[in-house]
Amino acid sequence: MSGSLTIVGLGPGEPHWLTPAAQAALEAATDLVGYGPYLDRLAVRGGQTKHASDNRVEIARARYALQLAAEGRAVAVVSGGDPGVFAMAAAVFEALEAGEPGWLALPISVEPGITAMLAAAARAGAPLGGDFCAISLSDNLKPWDVITARLEAALSADFVISLYNPISKARPWQLGEALTLAARHRAPETPVIFARAVGRPDEVLRVLPMSEAVGAAGSADMATLVMIGASSTRSIARPGQAPIVYTPRSVTKIPCATSQGRT
Ligand code: SAH
Repeated sequence: MSGSLTIVGLGPGEPHWLTPAAQAALEAATDLVGYGPYLDRLAVRGGQTKHASDNRVEIARARYALQLAAEGRAVAVVSGGDPGVFAMAAAVFEALEAGEPGWLALPISVEPGITAMLAAAARAGAPLGGDFCAISLSDNLKPWDVITARLEAALSADFVISLYNPISKARPWQLGEALTLAARHRAPETPVIFARAVGRPDEVLRVLPMSEAVGAAGSADMATLVMIGASSTRSIARPGQAPIVYTPRSVTKIPCATSQGRT
């Protein structure tokens, strides 16, 4: 039997945010490989084996998955959100490039998932209506001065910025520093979204003005995505309901250009 490997995105949380194609890939697998808590979300059918590993051993996990596939197993490597966004797909290809020549003949595919940034944006309104970028604040895999240089560039270019991996026990101060930097480039009323555990039962979405966001950095955790608005990102207050945050599609100094037919 010839093996295969699929890198599957589970989406941000609940099963209804898993695509049917990802579901089918999971069902077809003989072996499920991934970080323990992601595997815990999945029911196994008879004949399937789960291989849980720690979060920090991505390349070792990728090599293990490739090895299993080379032995003839139908392997699914799982990732939260989308597997190509700060996740396992790149680790698998890094392991493939540096690995056994025989692995290059394996059928390998990627099944996309809804990434945290898109799930958080949908909950908030339409903050990604204009140009945007995503930056991981984790300095486990890149130096902090590279992160701040990219942040500065993105802030100067007036992108909406999604911050993945904003904070952890080992990285307690980085988010505060990133938001302090952002506050130098953005007006105090610019919306900043703290989207925690989107799509899970303990989901919390908070929208704070830039002026308050710096002080709130400590309230974020590893399950939080932080989104910093661009200069045009705004918030619509609604009685008795959460505000809507959106970024107009048109870039202009005149407000409401879209409604004037200037798109
Ligand atoms: N591949 C994942 C991202 C992995 S990096 C994806 O596409 O979503 C891990 C970071 O993603 C977390 O620190 C957090 O910033 C963000 N994240 C993942 N799931 C999330 C969720 N349900 N709600 C909010 N942020 C989430």
